[in-house]
Amino acid sequence: MKQSNLFTKTRKEAPSDEIAKNAQLLIRGGFIHKEMAGVYSYLPLGLRTLTKIENIIREEMDAIGGQEIRMATLHPSEKWKQTGGWDAVDVLFKLQSRTEKEYALGQSEEEIVTPIAQEYANSYKDLPVAIYQIGQKYRDELRAKSGIMRGREFGMKDMYSFHESQEDFERFYAVTKEAYLRVFKRTGLDAKVTEAAGGSFSEKISYEFMVLTDAGEDDIVYCPFCTHCANTEIAKAEAGGSCPKCGKGTLAKARAAEVGNVFDLGVKYPKAFNFTYKDKEGKEQTPIVGCYGIGTTRLMGTIVEVFSDEKGMVWPESVAPFNVHLVSLLGAEGGNVKVEADKLYETLTKKGVEVLYDDRDVRPGEKFADSDLIGIPTRVVVSEKTLAQGKLEVKSRKTGTVSMLSEAELLNQLSIVR
Ligand code: ATP
Ligand code: MG
Repeated sequence: MKQSNLFTKTRKEAPSDEIAKNAQLLIRGGFIHKEMAGVYSYLPLGLRTLTKIENIIREEMDAIGGQEIRMATLHPSEKWKQTGGWDAVDVLFKLQSRTEKEYALGQSEEEIVTPIAQEYANSYKDLPVAIYQIGQKYRDELRAKSGIMRGREFGMKDMYSFHESQEDFERFYAVTKEAYLRVFKRTGLDAKVTEAAGGSFSEKISYEFMVLTDAGEDDIVYCPFCTHCANTEIAKAEAGGSCPKCGKGTLAKARAAEVGNVFDLGVKYPKAFNFTYKDKEGKEQTPIVGCYGIGTTRLMGTIVEVFSDEKGMVWPESVAPFNVHLVSLLGAEGGNVKVEADKLYETLTKKGVEVLYDDRDVRPGEKFADSDLIGIPTRVVVSEKTLAQGKLEVKSRKTGTVSMLSEAELLNQLSIVR
């Protein structure tokens, strides 16, 4: 994409009421637009990154047999009343129509997915089934000060699985846990897994996926040697003690962001909807349900918090809005910088490299500052100086390393990192 065509522009300052680094950088880079506290629109650059995050999740959920659907977000109040959520869920947004009919905005989708599964899963032969969606959620959060990490409208992948037995649920629960770890790894993050009580959903064991960052809202202790990790809110784990799992490490304390979790919901929702299936003997049984969330927009915010420096964002290759930021320094009129940069843009694009081409007629300093802020992994400069050398100036946003490469060498390097 040519930057001259991109309708968004970078800005030097973030809005003064925006205190979270993720939102400051994303707004300054033109990735998101703030509508009000906790509500943001996603602009071309931001949507490209969010879509990449969603696609990684989609691939991993499909790989474990998840079936994607898109559920309604405007919910009839009746279903929420049937499960007790209408009165029990404090973050539920409730609306009233002109005819005084009541609705809820989806804050989670058990009330919708359970009747859907019920309609099709009548026999043990129809189970297990795992259904997921990626979409908007609405929650009346009291505090929304963490940028896109805690929204009142935000993105979530939520999956729900229905099983014949506790054993089958536990099998799938373990499979999903591994898929989650792959998701976070592919987005560049190192996620730790805590075992936690199930919060408002149930008292059963669940897992939380935590990424260390001061921008998070959870306190955890973890072992630097093994995978042991606990949320201090629920466990009596204390920093400084020795690791209860491996015995080698001394527990360290850290702030972390919960980017995902998996819950054992038991039979609560099928019971509320009288959802039963026929087992092998033809007897009616109640399915066991699991639910699995990943905060897609929180994940994006966490990536910004973890991968950024004083100049801006530093996107991991897998979720960067583009692979290459091609920057032309136009110089004196009559030079062939534009011609050569246009050609390179075409060549790279034809090879499937996603290029943001800064073809604007602005000062080099401004182009470089924008490039650092936007944080695309590889910057390629075409200027009179580079043309004189018959090379391209290639800079890594992450390491700052600059190398002079031929076009063939650049293509080679890009094929390795992508
Ligand atoms: P938290 O304790 O942070 O409020 P939660 O326990 O309410 O999270 P779930 O209801 O299980 O979270 O939602 C699944 C995932 O959605 C969470 O792990 C988190 O990544 C994300 N999430 C939850 N609330 C928000 C929010 N207000 N804004 C952005 N992401 C959210
Ligand atoms: Mg919450």
